[in-house]
Amino acid sequence: RLQQMLGRAQRKKLKLGVLFLDLDGFKRINDTLGHHLGDLVLQATSERLQKSIRISDTFAQPVTSQGDISLARLGGDEFTALLPLIERNEDAAIVAERIRIKLAQPMIFGEHELTTTTSIGIAIYPDDGETTEDLLKNADLAMYYAKRSGGNMYCYFSSYMMERAVRKLTMESHLRKAVEREEFCLHYQPQFDIERGNFNGVEVLLRWENKELGKISPAEFIPLAEETGLIIHIGEWVLRKACYQTKAWCDQGIPLARVAVNVSAGQLLHNGFASMVNSILAETMLDPGILELELTESALINDVDLVIEVLKQLKQVGVQLAIDDFGTGYSSLSRLMNFPIDRLKIDQAFVRNLEQNSDNGAIATAIIAMATSMNMRVTAEGVETNTQLNFMKNKSCNDVQGYFLSKPLPTDQAEEFFKQKCK
Ligand code: C2E
Ligand code: CA
Ligand code: CA
Repeated sequence: RLQQMLGRAQRKKLKLGVLFLDLDGFKRINDTLGHHLGDLVLQATSERLQKSIRISDTFAQPVTSQGDISLARLGGDEFTALLPLIERNEDAAIVAERIRIKLAQPMIFGEHELTTTTSIGIAIYPDDGETTEDLLKNADLAMYYAKRSGGNMYCYFSSYMMERAVRKLTMESHLRKAVEREEFCLHYQPQFDIERGNFNGVEVLLRWENKELGKISPAEFIPLAEETGLIIHIGEWVLRKACYQTKAWCDQGIPLARVAVNVSAGQLLHNGFASMVNSILAETMLDPGILELELTESALINDVDLVIEVLKQLKQVGVQLAIDDFGTGYSSLSRLMNFPIDRLKIDQAFVRNLEQNSDNGAIATAIIAMATSMNMRVTAEGVETNTQLNFMKNKSCNDVQGYFLSKPLPTDQAEEFFKQKCK
C-alpha cells in the first residue's frame, strides 16, 4: 500500500505522511493483567484508530482530500497510518494529534479501567525519505524520540535524529572493543573531609578516548554501555583498575580512607556482582572498608527484594555503600531508608546556585539533617565556590567534592596531589 501511494505522490508531486504508532506501557498491561486483556486493548485501539481517521470526519477531509488514510498493525502494539497526498507537512500533525487524544481516553473492560497512551513518529515523503523502507524506519526513529521524551506525544523525524542514531551505532561498535584496545583510563577526583580538614577520599571517573571519535563524555557513553549490557564488562574493568591503583597508593603511604566507584543498575543486578567485588578485593588485597560503591536511586527502586539481597551481600563483603545524586530520583524515602546505606551524596543540582536559589539551600540542609539523624555520612558534590564550601561547613556536611577543591585528575597528577596534600 505504501509503495502504491508513493508512486501516486511522485506523479502528483504531493507529499505523503507516514505515522508510526506504539502504545506506551503495553508490555506492562500484558504482563500484569494477562494476554487476554492485552488483546482486548489492541482490538479497542484498532477500533479507535479507525474511528479517528474516518474520511467523513470533518478534520480528515481537508488534510487528505485525495485518498483514504490507510491503517495497519505491524505487529505487537505497533500500528502505522499512511496519509496520502497531503499538501503541507503540518497536516500530518493534525491527524497525529487527533489520534493521540482519541487513544488516550480510558478504556473499560469489566472491572478494569485502563488508560494507554501512544507515542507517534511522523516521517514525510519526500523530505524524510523516498523509499518505503526509509520512511518507515525514520517514522519509527521519530516514534522512539516521542517515547523517550515521555510518551503520549507525536514527534516529527529530523536529520538530527538520524545523525544521533548513526553516531550511536558507530559508538557502540567502538565501545565493544574499547577495553581490549585499552582506550579507557581512570581519573580521580579528590574529596575533602571538612571535619578533619584533609583530603582523604577519591571518586573514580571513567574516561574514554577513541581514535576516530576522540574524547567522549561518560554522560554519553555510560548510558549506551548500560543499554547494550557492555557496562558489565567495563564496570568490572573499572573496579579492578581502581582497586589496584588505590592499593598501590596505600602501600606508598598515601592515607586514602575511601575510593568511591560508580556502579550502574545493570551491574548491581547482574548475577554474582557481590562475589565479583569480593574476588577483586582479594586479588588486589585492598581493604574492603576503603571501597565505596556509589549507587543511584534508580538502581535501587526496581526489583527491591533482589536489591536488598545484593546490598546485604555487599555489606558482608565489607564495602561501604553510598547513594549518588541523592534527591533527584523521586523514590520513596521510607523505602530507600530500609537499605543498608552508609552515605548520601547530595546531587550537584542542589549545590549549584546555592547562593541564588534558597530552595536549593533548604534541600541541601534537609538532606544533611536527615542523613545525620540516620547515622549516615553526607558528601556534597559539585562544589564550585568558596560560598558553597562555607555553606557546607556551616551545615556540618561531612565531605565535599568539586572543582573548587580539585577537578578529576589523571593517575599521575592525582598521586602528586595526594603526596603534596598529605605531607
Ligand atoms: P557522577 O557520578 O555524578 O560524577 C560526578 C560528575 O560531576 C563527573 O562528571 C565530574 O567530573 C563532575 N564534577 C565534579 N565536580 C564538579 C563541579 O564542581 N562542577 C561540575 N559542573 N561538575 C563536576 P563525569 O566524569 O563527566 O561523569 C559523568 C557521569 O558518568 C557520572 O556522574 C557517573 O554517573 C557516570 N560515570 C562516570 N564514570 C563511571 C563509571 O566508572 N561507572 C559508571 N557506572 N558510571 C560512571
Ligand atoms: Ca558518582
Ligand atoms: Ca553524582
